[in-house]
Amino acid sequence: MLKIYLTFAVETVVPNDLASNIQSVPTKSVYTEESFVTLPSLDRLDIKDLQERDPVVGKFIEIWNTKRKPLRSEQRKCDKPLVTLLRQWDRIEVEDGLIYRIIIDPNHGQLKQMKVPAMLRNKVLDNCHDKLGHQEIERTFTNVRLRCYWPGMFNHIKDYCKKCERCIVSKMPQPAITPAMGHLIANRPLQILAIDFTVLEPAYGKENVLVMTDSFTKFTRAQYLRKTRKQTLLLMYC
Ligand SMILES: [Zn+2]
Repeated sequence: MLKIYLTFAVETVVPNDLASNIQSVPTKSVYTEESFVTLPSLDRLDIKDLQERDPVVGKFIEIWNTKRKPLRSEQRKCDKPLVTLLRQWDRIEVEDGLIYRIIIDPNHGQLKQMKVPAMLRNKVLDNCHDKLGHQEIERTFTNVRLRCYWPGMFNHIKDYCKKCERCIVSKMPQPAITPAMGHLIANRPLQILAIDFTVLEPAYGKENVLVMTDSFTKFTRAQYLRKTRKQTLLLMYC
């Protein structure tokens, strides 16, 4: 019997007929309910309604309901995202009116990915990135891919994570922590004098006040100054 061992790149989709020959792949079934973990505030009917109203997914559903896959020549007239969905025709499954893509993942077995309409994509990312501890791009992608699919999903997730304010702030260089200044302890009067200016409400032109405190005795003196120039202070101490 033919045995195939492969390494899969990101977003690799293994055709079902090939996957059946891969010996190392566990064929674990993932429940449909998994998809709803990404959209806990919505029920099936809400999502079905949004799938049908989505310009790409809705158009795909219309075509799917005709039960005829468009020819390649017909697909050329369609927009690229719709062509991407049409190429997945053989991997589509409909359950309770919702459209899923079925893939075989080398690590997780069969995955049932819900086709997410554009309106819900950021909501999915909010649940799979913001509410899951702002994990890095690859991990966020894995979380979403296990349950959902939309064309260009990886780039959308990458863009979302790169613009995430919380992720940006957490990666910014943090300022170096400077040790707190030690206390100066005076052993005798007038050994250490604390000097500072304060400005009072203007009254009779006397608003500049120099405050001096002796660290040992805590004796404080406030001195009104007409000028606060360096020369004035030097004159006081000389
Ligand atoms: Zn983030």
